[in-house]
Amino acid sequence: MEIKKAIILVAGYEPNLSPYTDQMHQCMFKIGNETVLEKSLSHLSNCGIEKVVLIVGHKYEVIKEKIGDKYKNIDIKYIINEKYQSTNVLYSLFLAKEETNEPFLLMDGDMIVEEDFIAEMIKYPQENVMAVDFSDQNKENIVVSKILNNSKIVEIGKHIKKLDDENFARFLGISKFSKDFANKLLTQIQIFINENKLKTIYEDAINELLKTETVNIFNSRKYNWFEIDTITEFEKAKKIFGDTENLKAKAFEFGADDAYIILPQELVFDDRVILQCFNCKNFGVKHTCPPHIMDVDFEKMIKKYKKGLLVLVKFDSSIDFAKARLESTNKLHKILLQLEKVAFSQDNHFTTSFIGGSCKLCPNGCAEGSCRNTAMSRIPLESTGVDVVETLKKFGIELKFPAKDLIYRVGLLLIG
Ligand code: SF4
Repeated sequence: MEIKKAIILVAGYEPNLSPYTDQMHQCMFKIGNETVLEKSLSHLSNCGIEKVVLIVGHKYEVIKEKIGDKYKNIDIKYIINEKYQSTNVLYSLFLAKEETNEPFLLMDGDMIVEEDFIAEMIKYPQENVMAVDFSDQNKENIVVSKILNNSKIVEIGKHIKKLDDENFARFLGISKFSKDFANKLLTQIQIFINENKLKTIYEDAINELLKTETVNIFNSRKYNWFEIDTITEFEKAKKIFGDTENLKAKAFEFGADDAYIILPQELVFDDRVILQCFNCKNFGVKHTCPPHIMDVDFEKMIKKYKKGLLVLVKFDSSIDFAKARLESTNKLHKILLQLEKVAFSQDNHFTTSFIGGSCKLCPNGCAEGSCRNTAMSRIPLESTGVDVVETLKKFGIELKFPAKDLIYRVGLLLIG
């Protein structure tokens, strides 16, 4: 199913963000050089979307003046919800009924997501998909979905409160629908409108359709997303989306198998991790490992950075484990040094990185006395006290031990 169109809902007024939203819709808030909406449009353009329908209302003239009728490769169409103060997103979507005659993405305009999130969702094999997050907090006023077999949504709405169970997840306001599903959805929306349920959300109409239709989940756990419903969330989003997105793309270009943007404050630290160094056969040998590394509060220092990028490489170790150990560490090490260079050129003068596993740059092992190459050697992430296993769980990755057939190496780039 090819997707060339997106419908973005940016009509409503958000009183929680007043006085900022008195002047503009929150999609006009700036992150770096772009507004939130421009960022979404850039991502959509890079993902092959050719037409975007913006359902506008509150302060729509600000949006129109900024975005115009064409943004990058995207044709922009505006539909005005004049009744945005007395209606909700269901009515906004109803106004776009002429635009639902082909598969499309449906997005809440106050969501900020990574480009990979959108790209992956477009590629997702199922036709009708809604993005959810299983790890989200118990917040008020969110749309929760009940999920069957970790794949199919069986119920959705703000009425569902139970989030402390693996069968419940938060809906993130981004969906992909086929033409056929959209037709049925619009028919259901029409029924609600005929009943004058104008304050209803479109998820309520979807909830009705779930009795007969299949909607799958898109588990967005490994991507960063933010909903601008509070200034704190917006400040967090501003920190995480900036040059980290560019560095993430570079990480893949340099050969990483995965990369995750993280706030250093979200890394999991545990003193017991450093105890493992004492059990290592190289304890006391490596110049960049305990007990030779400087005696500083790594947690405090690392958390001073504004942004981080976890970089992963995976190596098949089923045939030659020793070779895979060596090559995986060195590959990751090289990627991180390249990323440091890029970050430095982006004016991040404090940038540094931590490798995965002990430094193996010298083919015959560490030199006696002191390190041969302090400019290039780096400290293992584990020896700073970061619990890599628990940290990766935040991105849905479960590392299993012992690692027999597959070695994961995880490093961290810090910037800001
Ligand atoms: S650069 Fe060489 S001497 Fe320095 S820590 Fe790495 S392997 Fe050891």
